[in-house]
Order: sequence, then C-alpha cells, then structure tokens
Amino acid sequence: MPRIRLVGVAKSYPGPSPVHALRGIDLTIEQGELIAIEGPSGAGKSTLLNMLALLDLPTSGKILVGLDDPSAMRPRALAKLRSCTFGFIFQGFHLLDAHTVIENVTLAFRYRALPRARQLELAAAALEQVGLADRAEELARNLSGGQRQRVAIARAIAGGAPVLVADEPTGNLDSENSAAIIDLLTSIARTGRTVVIVTHSADVAAATDRRIVVRDGRIASDARVAGAPALAAEDEPTEVLSLASDGGEPSAHAAAARQEGHDSRLSLPDLLRDAWGTLASRPGKYAALVLVIALGVGLAVTTFGLTEAARAQVAQTFDATRNIQVDAALGDPRTSISEYAARSEQLAGVDLAGAVHITRSPAISAESGEAPAGTPLAAVTPDYLESVGATVRWQGQKREIADGEVLVGGSLAAELGLPPLFSGPRVRVNGTEAQVVGIIEESALAPELLRSVVGGASFPVADSPLLPPPVTAVPPEMAVHVRAVPGAAQQIAQQLPLALQPEDPSSVHVQAPPDPQTQRGSIEATVRASLLALSAVSILVAVISLMNSMSVSVLERSRELGLRRALGAQRSHLRRLVMVEAMLLGAAGGVCGLFLGLLAVLSVSISRGWVPIFDPVLAPIAVAAGIVVAALAGAVAAWRASRIQPVEALRL
Ligand code: ADP
Repeated sequence: MPRIRLVGVAKSYPGPSPVHALRGIDLTIEQGELIAIEGPSGAGKSTLLNMLALLDLPTSGKILVGLDDPSAMRPRALAKLRSCTFGFIFQGFHLLDAHTVIENVTLAFRYRALPRARQLELAAAALEQVGLADRAEELARNLSGGQRQRVAIARAIAGGAPVLVADEPTGNLDSENSAAIIDLLTSIARTGRTVVIVTHSADVAAATDRRIVVRDGRIASDARVAGAPALAAEDEPTEVLSLASDGGEPSAHAAAARQEGHDSRLSLPDLLRDAWGTLASRPGKYAALVLVIALGVGLAVTTFGLTEAARAQVAQTFDATRNIQVDAALGDPRTSISEYAARSEQLAGVDLAGAVHITRSPAISAESGEAPAGTPLAAVTPDYLESVGATVRWQGQKREIADGEVLVGGSLAAELGLPPLFSGPRVRVNGTEAQVVGIIEESALAPELLRSVVGGASFPVADSPLLPPPVTAVPPEMAVHVRAVPGAAQQIAQQLPLALQPEDPSSVHVQAPPDPQTQRGSIEATVRASLLALSAVSILVAVISLMNSMSVSVLERSRELGLRRALGAQRSHLRRLVMVEAMLLGAAGGVCGLFLGLLAVLSVSISRGWVPIFDPVLAPIAVAAGIVVAALAGAVAAWRASRIQPVEALRL
C-alpha cells in the first residue's frame, strides 16, 4: 500500500507571463486517508491533484509513490504505475454513453492483459459495491446523474487501485445524490483505500478526515477533522501509519484485481469493441463522415463504371459509323457499275453495296445559269446513295432515278439558281435535257455528290467528251462503296478485289477503315484518363474533409482519450483506437459508396440508352478504397490522439 510524498513540489506553466500554480508543496498522504483539498478557484487544487496522481510531472521538487520515483521512469513504466495505483473520478463522470454500465466499468482493465471473463467478473464485483449490480446491462446514457457517478466510482475501484482521486465528484449532482456519493466514498475509504477529493463543497469537505486548504499555490492549512478515525497521532496528521484493510470482500477483490495484468496491452476484440462504441455513441456525426467517404468512393465507382459503359459506347458508335465502310476504286473497269454492285453484294457480311461511275462534264446548264467546266457527272446504282449515307430531298413520291432524270447536288443547285422542285426544273447535260427529281442535301462519305449531277445506272456519263487538261487530270473513275455489317469490314476489304475483278485483282484499290483496335484504343484512353482525373479529385476532397472532421472529433474527445491514458493506455493504443475507428468508417463508407456508384452508373446508362456495365472486381476495390481513404485521413487524427496527455482527463 503506497504512501505518497510530495517534497518541495512546484509547478509553473510557461507563457508570456508564466503561472506559478504550485510553489513548494510538502505533503505526505498515508494509505487509507480520506482527504479533501479545498481552496478558492485558481488556487492550484487541480494542479496538486494532477501531480500527486502522476497525471503531470512537477517543474521542480520530488514526488514519491511508495518507493517509486516517477520522474526517473520511462513513459511506459509511469503509465503502468499510474494505472496500478490510482483510480479517477471526475465531475463530468466521463462515461462512454453508448456502452453498457458493465462495459464502462471494464474500461478500467482495457489496457491490461486480462481475459474478458475476468474483466466482467471484477467489474460486476465493483458494481455490486456501488449498489448498481442490477443496472449492469443498462446503457450508461439512460442513468441518472447520481447513478452515473456511481458507475464512474465502480470503474475507479474495479481495477483495485489503492488510491482514488476525485475532482469535484459532486459538482454536477443535487444535494441528495451528493450525500449518497459522499457516503460511498467514505465507505470506500474505510476499506483501506486512500481517497483524495478536490472540492468546493463544505459538505463534502466536512465528511472527510483531513482538510487541506490550498491558496496561491501553497498549503494554507492542513488539519485532521476532530472525530475522524485514528490514522496517526492526532496532532501529526502527516505521519506515516498504514491503515490495514478491514479484510472485507471488496478489499479482497481490490487486492486481487491490483495484482492482475498490468502489462499495458490492448486486445483486438477490446479495441474493436471500443472503436465500435465510439461510433455508436454519436451516430449522426459519424454517419455524416461515412457519407463523405461514400461520396468520394461513389464518384470514383461512378467514374469507373461510366468509363466502361462509355468505352463500350464509343466502340459501338465507332463500329456504327466509320468502321463499316469499304471503298474500292476500279483502276481498270471492265464491266458496268450494275455488274460491279451485284458482284459486291455476293460477299458475306455486305449490308449494302452500290457503285458509281463519275466523270467531269464540260457543259452543264439550267435555264437560270451554267455550271463551271469540270463539274462532276455521276451514274449510280440504286443502293449507292444509301450506302454512302446521302440524304436526298425527292420531288413528290419519287424514290429512284429513271431514264431522263437526274438528281442535283445541293451546292450545285444553289450555284445554278435552280427553281423549286415542284416547278419541274430541268438541266441540260452535254446537250441532252434531263428532269431534276431531287436535291442531294447531305453526303458525308461522298461529299463530291453535293457538287454533282447524278443519274441512274444507265446514265451516259462515259459519253462526255474529254476535256483539255488540267480538268482531265482526274480520269473517269468507277468505284464501289460497300456498307458492311459491324465487324465484317476488314474481311470484305480483303475479298473485294478478287470478287470485283477476278482477271486483274491488283487493279482494284481498296480503302478499308483503319485497324479498329488502335483507333478505339486511343479514344478509350482519352476518355479513361479524363474520368480518372475526376475520380482522383473526388477522393482527394474526401480525404481532406475527413482529415479535418476526424481531427476536430479527436479534440472534442480529449477528456475521454485523456482518461484512457490515465487508465494505462499507451500513446500507441490511442493511435490504434482512432485508426480502427477511421477504418470502420472507411469500410462503411466504401460499401455505401459502392451502392451509390452503382445507382449512378445504372441511372446514367439507362437515361442515355447505354448498356450498363459493372465489373465485379470494383466491389472489393471500392470497400478497400474507402478503408484506405479513411486510414489516410485518420492518420493525422490518430497522431493528434497519441499526443493527448492523461492530464487532459481532468480539464473541464
Ligand atoms: P484550481 O483547481 O484551484 O481552480 P488550478 O490548479 O486549475 O486551480 O490552476 C492553478 C493556476 O494555474 C490557475 O491560475 C490556472 O489558470 C493555471 N493553470 C492551470 N492549468 C494550466 C495550464 N495547463 N496552462 C496554463 N495555466 C494553467
């Protein structure tokens, strides 16, 4: 049973004008004393309590706990001595509200290597002693103020600490509950424990055996109360005398508990239980943090999901437009365009095939004007215009070009100043009149048609007299245009020369679309890169906002974390606690983010008419991403938590 001695203890708080909170305190506290420390506000009472309970070290002077000198100890050994020797009781109770009563009491053993069953057994015994055995499974938040303080006292005595220090233990209680707490503390003192109470209350002080009054950092008076149980010679209250335990059941428990496990270790289940308890204690606040992670992860999942869907979409669009067109120029035509179109159509994978024979005409005119020399003149097979995707505005119900009829390209019509179709405009080609039955309005794949006069397959383009150079530099040419079914273009391009010109395939010049893989690849890479950048930004935002919230939350919990330190937690224990809390939040955020992301991908895909694509590997990645994001953000908060000192527990 330790005697506590303070010899010339002084404590100053540095600053622009340093505060000398304690100035040379000499004090001896014997085991079993029931002591009140009184004095006006700012006198140094709490500072004195911090010193004698080893929550803080003095600026000068010496403290001895039994034979131990804390100033010479390493932090780990100091934490062990503190948690073995002292139990703490605070004005604000410092309970974990979302935990059960018994769970709060077992916090006393949290940082000792004690089996769970033993923790529960000792906690139950302590609850019995404070008269709350029947409330063990109640949530702490459901208890009255007086009951909460009794739970805190049970926690303080459960670990078998021989010295209880209490800072204004009745400060938050009404007189009836105060009286009950004073009785309880008195009865605990009578079992051989030392009880030191800092108080403003005359009633509390009157119930103690020794009243120490502190003023301006000095002991102003130190008197034993008349009628108090004998401890030492009446006139020498600070003399040493060991008060034997009365040998009752609680003391026997206390002695046993004190002997057990002071290794300052934290088991994984205890760590998880504590972390979960923290999160459950403020569901609204932590749900908001989960939401922050969920939004970051959700955006990333959306991005990846949409990248996949968009890539598929790009590929599809790509196939649908450019990747199905095959052109073949016939260098040395041997037959008619109708025959060439028919030969092309026989190939597998051909959706539509048309052929064109195009020359330059020296003389095209209409009533209203004349076309420039060299204007293209084309004969086309019936499917040609559709195969090149040309849009024609036909006159009336007409849909094909009969003999003696032509179409005129939109640009040429404007150049000629052709009157509207219903007025039956005519053009004169090489001296022969033809009826204009339609205007070619668009022709993306064969833009020269917009400047041309286009006739049917039998249109006598070859009859055009040759023009002098340079117009004839473009020779009359025949070409085939094939629209393939998606994926067949490459194969058709290979077979087309032989099909068109079996006797001289090399005279056919095929223009197939570029290799689809490379083109697609480069488009997809661009899409992916920009979406990845978006995800990175969203994750960064989540990390930063989470980092901020978690750090603030650690500061808000400094008393609780300080209490854990006072109960024997190492810095690393607090770091681990905050990290595990963060990672639990991260896992929850990851799962929520996954669902948010899936929902977003689904709704965007459906609204755009895309096929929603979801890679199952995203599921574990999303959860892992949530955990990593939270761990990154939590690292700063964990570091801050590890800096919290035990003395924080006493700050109000
Ligand atoms: P009491 O408990 O009697 O009200 P305290 O021990 O809390 O007094 O404080 C004694 C003096 O030390 C006061 O002037 C207080 O402002 C000062 N003090 C206490 N703690 C700190 C601190 N951490 N930093 C600076 N000054 C402090």
